[in-house]
This record gives sequence, C-alpha cells and structure tokens, in this order.
Amino acid sequence: MPAKIIDGKKIADRILNDIKGKIKSMKEKPGLAIVLVGNNPASEIYVGSKEKDFREVEGYCERHNLDKDTSEFDLMNLVNQLNNNQRIHGILVQLPLPKQIDENLITNSIAPHKDVDGFTSVSLGHLFSGHGIIAPATARAVIHLIESTGIKIEGKNAVVVGRSNIVGKPVAMMLLEKNATVTVCHSKTRNLAEHTKKADILVAAAGKPKLITKEMVKEGAVVIDVGINRVNGKIVGDVDFENVKEVAGFITPVPGGVGPMTIAMLMENTLKAMELAEKARH
Ligand code: NDP
Repeated sequence: MPAKIIDGKKIADRILNDIKGKIKSMKEKPGLAIVLVGNNPASEIYVGSKEKDFREVEGYCERHNLDKDTSEFDLMNLVNQLNNNQRIHGILVQLPLPKQIDENLITNSIAPHKDVDGFTSVSLGHLFSGHGIIAPATARAVIHLIESTGIKIEGKNAVVVGRSNIVGKPVAMMLLEKNATVTVCHSKTRNLAEHTKKADILVAAAGKPKLITKEMVKEGAVVIDVGINRVNGKIVGDVDFENVKEVAGFITPVPGGVGPMTIAMLMENTLKAMELAEKARH
C-alpha cells in the first residue's frame, strides 16, 4: 500500500490559525526582527515567506535588509540594538552570511531569550542537556510531523542523515529525548543503506537530491524529507519521493512538508520568547 502523505502545509496552517487567534487577543503583539544580508535568491525566498506568514498572524515584523558588503561590526551593532529593543521578542539572522562575516560570532551575539531560531550555543546547550526552551524550528517541525502520524517515537530506531548544527544534530537530540534509538549518518558514513534500512523513522537532511532511494527504506517507515534542492528550476527534497512512497508508511512531500511547518514552529518560538520576556519583567 502506498504511503500516507503527511500534509505539512495543512498542519502548519492549523497552527498558524491558532497563533493568529492568540495574537488577536493580545494587547502587545509579538515582535520579530528578520535580518537579511546581501541578496542570495534562496534566502530572499525564505525570508519573504517568514515575513508574510508573521504578518498574516498579525504579529509585528521588522525586516532589515543590509548590503552584501556589510561589515561584521555593523551587523553586530544591529543585533545589539535589536537585543535591547523591547518591541522585539525574536531575532532571526538569515544564514548563510557573506564570507567577510563570522556566522558563529553573529549567531552567538543574539540574546539567548530572543534566539527564536534556537541556533546560539546557549540554546543548543539547553537542548542537548534536555532542558531546551526554544529549540531549532526545523527540528521541532520534524518531531511534530512524526507525531502527527500517531506513531510513537519511543523505542523506535530513528536514523538521521545529516549532522549539521542547525538541522541534523538538533533533530537527533530531540529524537533521543523522545526515547528513540538514534543513528546519525553523514558524508563519511560507510554503506548508508545498511543504516537507513533499519530505520522505523528516517529523517533526510543532507541537501542531496534523490539521496534516499526506495531500496534504502524499510517497509512502513516514517520518512521525513528536510532537504530543499533546486533541480532544473524545481524544488525537490533528498528523498526519491515517487518511488519511496511505494514502500514507506508515511512520507512528507517537498514542497509542502517540513518547509511550512518550520515557519509555523518559528512563529510559536516567537510567542514563547515573548512569554519569557514577560515572565522576566514580572
Ligand atoms: P549542511 O550542508 O550544513 O549539512 C548537510 C549534512 O548532510 C552534513 O552533515 C553532511 O555530512 C551530510 N551529507 C552530505 N552528503 C551526504 C551523503 N551523500 N550521505 C550522507 N550524508 C551526507 O545542510 P543543512 O543541515 O543546513 O541542511 C540540510 C538540508 O535541509 C538542505 O537541503 C537545506 O536546504 C535543507 N533545510 C531545510 C529547511 C526546511 O525548513 N525545510 C531548513 C533548513 C535546512 P558531513 O557533515 O560529513 O559533511
């Protein structure tokens, strides 16, 4: 039987609708600052959708477009201003940054309580010690989509393909926290298929189109495709969707899977950041 398609867009729309309802009843609106340096076309698209969705839920959104030649010093100054701006509860600096800027330095200059991406070392440290408050949006999206199937994560074999600090590692940590037995694969993994074949839950986050083929997937597995790749002007994931759906139990499409859910999780993180700021004030 072909896999059930996990409709990330539909689940995300439901969450965004709930957020909109919550924001409507608030006197002070949650504030998100989005910083984009340069004009990377993919980043422009991501930032555009985040801004659009945030405005649609009637949050307050500020966009800062900086020139591609912006210095590290100037960007750091802007982040510091946003850290001290009470109107702003969440700060998002779109990655990648131009090469003259140290990404790690800038990411870690965001105040942890405004780090709605969950990328600072403090946020990641909290996540890894099991006390995460604001976890990376994409990792939260992945967990949410798995849980939307009704399948319990506890006790399952989960395989994550990719070990970046912003996707692969946080996803692996969150699965571990949910009591899965987790294997993390990467570009130096020998015989990837041997690992993926054992996965009850398979998360592909490598950024390689059609890396995961039908032969690599266990029958009935939950397959979550995080990849966003442009092939001949089309957006595709890391999973060979058409063939893998013949063996998987559940599968996310690209587009329409993890992408929209990531934005919904980002909005939730901003609300959470606002609650934290309010708690700290009282
Ligand atoms: P990175 O390039 O930082 O990391 C890719 C990871 O995949 C690395 O750990 C790399 O291994 C591993 N990898 C690469 N090739 C292979 C291979 N052939 N076999 C096994 N592992 C491999 O990417 P990100 O983590 O930032 O993003 C991953 C994908 O997710 C991208 O397509 C990105 O566009 C997408 N993305 C989607 C989001 C969404 O909202 N849907 C949000 C963020 C990212 P090694 O460490 O050894 O190099």
